[in-house]
Parts: sequence; C-alpha cells; structure tokens
Amino acid sequence: MSFSKELKDLIKQRTLSEFNLPNKRQRPSVCCRNSFENAAALFSGESVSYREQVCARCPVYFLRGAFVTAGYLADPKKRYHLEIRIPDEKCLEALKIALNGCGFTFKTATRGTKSIFYIKNSEDIEDFLTMCACQDKAMELMELKVERSVKNRINRVNNYDGANLQRTINFAGKLKDAIEFLKSNDAFERLPENLKNTAALRGRYPGASLSELCALSKEKLTKSGLNHRFQRIIEEADRLRAHLTAVCRDQSAKGDV
Ligand SMILES: [Zn+2]
Repeated sequence: MSFSKELKDLIKQRTLSEFNLPNKRQRPSVCCRNSFENAAALFSGESVSYREQVCARCPVYFLRGAFVTAGYLADPKKRYHLEIRIPDEKCLEALKIALNGCGFTFKTATRGTKSIFYIKNSEDIEDFLTMCACQDKAMELMELKVERSVKNRINRVNNYDGANLQRTINFAGKLKDAIEFLKSNDAFERLPENLKNTAALRGRYPGASLSELCALSKEKLTKSGLNHRFQRIIEEADRLRAHLTAVCRDQSAKGDV
C-alpha cells in the first residue's frame, strides 16, 4: 500500500473511533461528524448539498473528510507535498471556509481542468497531520528533518575537508613542477639561498605538512613565512616559463621572415 493511502486509512480509522468514544464529553459533536461525512461525499463527487460548518471544531472534521477522500501526501522522505483535489466550485468555497477556520495558509493551482489545494511547507504539513489526529506522524516528520539536517551538516564538513585536501595536493604538485622546471633549465642554482634551502627541505620531506616542515627547518619559520617562500618559487618558475615562451615566439617569428 502506498504511503499516502496508508496514512489516509489511519486518519479515517482514528476519526471514526473519535466518533465512537463512549464518553460523551470527549466525543465530537454531531455537527462535526456531519462535516466529516459531508466533506467525504462532496469531495468524492456525489451530488449532495453543502452543510454549513457549525461549531469551532467543524472545520477540522471537514478537512479530514476532504483529505481522506481526495487528498494525497507524498512520502516526506522524498519531498514535502500535501494536496487535496477539488472537484468543483462548491467544494472550493467550502474548503476555503474550513482552511480559514483552522488557520492554514493555503495555495491553489490548476491541474488540467481541476483545481488543487496544496501545501509544500514541512511545518504546515506537520500541523495538518496533528489536526488529523496523527501527532505520531507529525513527530516522525520532525525527526526526519532533524536527521536530514545533521546529515547535510556532516556532508558540508566532509566536502569542506575534501576541498581543502584537494587544494593542498594541487599546491604540492605545482611546487614540485616548479622546482623541477627551474632545475631542468639551470635556473634553480640562481635562486636566493633561502629559497633553495626551502626547496631542499620540501624535497627531503615530501609528505610533511607545513607545520611539520616549520619544525624540521633550521630557520625559525612560521607557516605563512614558509608558504610565502613556496609561492615565490612557483612565481620564479612562472616568470621563467613566460620568458622562455616569449623567446621561442620571437625566434619563430624571425624564422618566418
Ligand atoms: Zn462541529
């Protein structure tokens, strides 16, 4: 059985058992029972006339009757969507009265030639379920939301760590390329002494983190100081690369003449 069908059966069953409560004080009034039955008949398309909602509780039972007859709730694990299909103008007016009576903000849309009433807000859906004697289902929905938000938070943290790690790996690769490029073009030896020492340190401990390298260095370097030197090595390589490219371009241009 579908999620929605199961829920509607549950609401119907709980509502009917309210009508059969032995204690007269706890039992909803006859007008409420009439509202429930009237809504069920109206929304199933029977040609019955609308019976005025009498007491303050009538709208609650009218809505339950409309929902169990022409309603649908999507599985909240997939999406938040509750709707009631409205067969005709008479039902729409009656439904508006009931919804206002219960303080629901509602939206209507047309699907084909028919109108629907719908809610997409999870909190309103929780309220609707509570109104339908399904506090337990409303609670499940809240728990689901908490679970989902915790999962999202964990994912965000994981993604953040992943991005950081990727940046570190990219940077380490770039630095390694830069040093190799400088060496293969005999430019490495021309670097200032401190940059050469830093490159040598990196080469000796390829897997070490910035903090570890700072501790291993004989100079008193901070992480940002060390990082700055790495940046300078990469810049030196970039500059040399740009220079060599320009020289090549010049030569081939001359060759063309
Ligand atoms: Zn009533």
